[in-house]
Amino acid sequence: MSITSFNPPVRTLMGPGPSDVHPRILAAMARPTIGHLDPLFVNMMDEMKVLLQYAFKTENALTLPVSAPGSAGMETCFVNLVEPGDKVIVCQNGVFGMRMTENVVRSGGVAIVVQDAWGQPVDPNKVEQAFKENPDARFLAFVQAETSTGAYSDAKTLTKLAHGHGALVIVDAVTSLGGSQLEVDAWGIDAIYSGSQKCLSCTPGLSPVSFGERAVEVIKNRKTKVQSWFLDMNLVMNYWGGGTKRAYHHTAPINALYGLHEALVMLQDEGLENSWTRHTNLHLALKAGFEALGLSFVVPEGSRLPQLNSVTIPEGVDDAQVRGTLLQRYNLEIGAGLGDLAGKIWRFGLMGHSATPKNVIFALAALESVLTELKAPINRGVALDAAQQVLLAKGY
Ligand SMILES: *Cc1c(COP(=O)(O)O)cnc(C)c1O
Repeated sequence: MSITSFNPPVRTLMGPGPSDVHPRILAAMARPTIGHLDPLFVNMMDEMKVLLQYAFKTENALTLPVSAPGSAGMETCFVNLVEPGDKVIVCQNGVFGMRMTENVVRSGGVAIVVQDAWGQPVDPNKVEQAFKENPDARFLAFVQAETSTGAYSDAKTLTKLAHGHGALVIVDAVTSLGGSQLEVDAWGIDAIYSGSQKCLSCTPGLSPVSFGERAVEVIKNRKTKVQSWFLDMNLVMNYWGGGTKRAYHHTAPINALYGLHEALVMLQDEGLENSWTRHTNLHLALKAGFEALGLSFVVPEGSRLPQLNSVTIPEGVDDAQVRGTLLQRYNLEIGAGLGDLAGKIWRFGLMGHSATPKNVIFALAALESVLTELKAPINRGVALDAAQQVLLAKGY
């Protein structure tokens, strides 16, 4: 047997995540591994907390990256906050809301599910109704940026509504952090989780989380032990929050954290609000190109995520063939539809370092060339110009 090194090609990642990782981040991850209790590493952890507080717009002391992907951040929020018997109103308008429901049930909670059609944002009126029918609900859980469809829900309004009924909120910001407006303190979000590989453009495998004071109170005053030892914040706090006397909990993924630190330094250097604006501007350019081609968006205007663009596949076009050709010929990865939308839509990510003018033009040109070859019913020769006009108008 003589297996050799694995050498992946350089792809352009424009799917639902991971996004393109900046060379600066990959370089940071190749720096020497030091001990996870080394004073220099502990200092880096302190900086990481400040950088994450900046990205979340919070002063929450309990702000840290969970040593596992976004799904573990989700689980961290649910297993720490929800106790057996607790009622949780869960908004379901795509794949990730469904996973939240699963987390509630596995934590022993009672899920009150509020359904919205895939592609629609969460309807606050339905949530209000659910609270009226369940005044004893302790939590409201929803996804701010539903990556399975590209819908953006109004986290500010939903949080206010939950607080009006005495409930805390648990928010999925895996795809929104760094890409769309998110104000943890100003909106009063109680518990939130994200991921490293979407708009932060780091490698996958880390999940930034943040808990407000009221959520910390809930965690500290639990009647039952958190059933997950690894994700129990009471224990993790001793490592991440321990000041100078940090206790060993698990070996931190040292080099992965170098990468996240670098990604957050880059976000700080660009400016959080500038990053939101960049995502919006490039979405507008991509949208102009798609519309010129004759493709329509799945999500209604006004609720679209800039970083995740879902468009309907033209009549008679083979989904897998197009995505396969884009990958093989152009090293371009885009996302397929999930669930009921499988085979019906494509998902174009414009996340983090993937959100560049170059990628907008490249994706449109590559898609147009493949669709032309397949004799798909599209408008030829107009998409690049439409995108270019937006880019010029936005000063790119
Ligand atoms: C990607 C994603 C997750 C899961 O993150 P993983 O890192 O894949 O575990 C959760 N929620 C949303 C909205 C996502 O987009």
